[in-house]
Amino acid sequence: MKLILLGAPGAGKGTQAEILSEKLGIPTISTGNILRAAIKEGTPVGLKAKAFMDAGRLVPDEVITGIVAERVAREDCANGFILDGVPRTLGQARALDAAGVTFDAVLSIEVSDGEIEERMSGRRVCVKCGAPYHVKAHPPAREGVCDHCGGALEHREDDQPETVRRRLEVYHAETEPLKGYYEAKGILSPVANQGSIEGTSRVIMEALGV
Ligand code: AMP
Repeated sequence: MKLILLGAPGAGKGTQAEILSEKLGIPTISTGNILRAAIKEGTPVGLKAKAFMDAGRLVPDEVITGIVAERVAREDCANGFILDGVPRTLGQARALDAAGVTFDAVLSIEVSDGEIEERMSGRRVCVKCGAPYHVKAHPPAREGVCDHCGGALEHREDDQPETVRRRLEVYHAETEPLKGYYEAKGILSPVANQGSIEGTSRVIMEALGV
């Protein structure tokens, strides 16, 4: 199954992708995690992406499409994959189409801007494996330590309130039009946020029939 998780920053895409990935046995591809790892390693892609990310802006399409094309071609994607945080522009969506990458469903997690701003203050992410947490809604077993790999949890620089507002503006302007794009293809499933991780997860599984 090939899926896209669409939604504002902090809508819960990473958390739901992790649950789906385990249930369906397919990998998650998060361009945000790939870019953060590239920045830590100091690669040319990382150097190029850093200023955009710190400012809450989008990294140029050609950087992103290169990353995704390389990643989906790997063997572990043979039975499907979940895209988390990509595509984020019509340009990226068209580039995936042009590369012959097709999708079974696009799940759009709908959360209001007000709730996103509230949530982001409690969000934490593992510096090593990128697993997402929330101090209240999804805490790790041991405070500050990743359940999966033991890495340290951090409050991302771009989760600060000013940058979150900028990222929401970018989401509405650049990413939200993708809903119409995939609706026209007949594969869009809007998922109303249910107020709990499990509740939203249940609605997603129902939409997918799994
Ligand atoms: P995320 O972890 O998905 O919230 O992504 C963090 C940041 O990485 C975004 O604010 C962008 O600067 C950059 N980024 C991640 N994915 C993309 C994408 N598909 N297109 C452009 N920029 C991206």
